[in-house]
Amino acid sequence: MNLADTIRAIPDYPKPGIIFRDITTLLGNARAFRRAVDELVQPWAGGKIDKVAGIEARGFILGGAVAHQLSAGFVPIRKKGKLPHETVSMVYSLEYGVDEIEMHKDAILPGERVLLVDDLIATGGTASAAANLIRQMGGELEAACFIVDLPGLGGADKLRALNVAVRTLIA
Ligand code: 5GP
Repeated sequence: MNLADTIRAIPDYPKPGIIFRDITTLLGNARAFRRAVDELVQPWAGGKIDKVAGIEARGFILGGAVAHQLSAGFVPIRKKGKLPHETVSMVYSLEYGVDEIEMHKDAILPGERVLLVDDLIATGGTASAAANLIRQMGGELEAACFIVDLPGLGGADKLRALNVAVRTLIA
């Protein structure tokens, strides 16, 4: 099985001219989901990751599975206004305008080794903001993992320029 074949491309979603990579078909395929998680965590198997941070919303699905596999805790990174306790937040730029993500203030302790997880990296704006949040809380960011990289949009390079190790499975 080729993992890339389990993802489908949806033209003109969410806007005309955008091709959306839909990973729900990968998640719905038992063998593909297991393989994606196994391959993502492989460099850290048996190693010490304290926390897996997943980005809302598809990063929660993967991040939960990754955290379980690594016997690590899970930390949700959410859109502004969704977390109930005290938060730290980071504003980042979109193509038009800005967005904001948040994490609970006490979710990551100084020195904890953290793996950042999301389904896909495009421009890298979301993941860079998440990386900055993790480091601001004193977390040791071990790496950022994604199933899909869209290399033409430069996100993985942007993260590497911030000294973040990047692992992706499909380009
Ligand atoms: P970036 O901040 O790197 O430009 O965008 C990445 C974020 O947007 C990720 O949270 C990802 O889930 C979402 N995203 C952007 N484009 C796509 C896409 O084509 N498919 C999927 N599944 N997610 C996308």
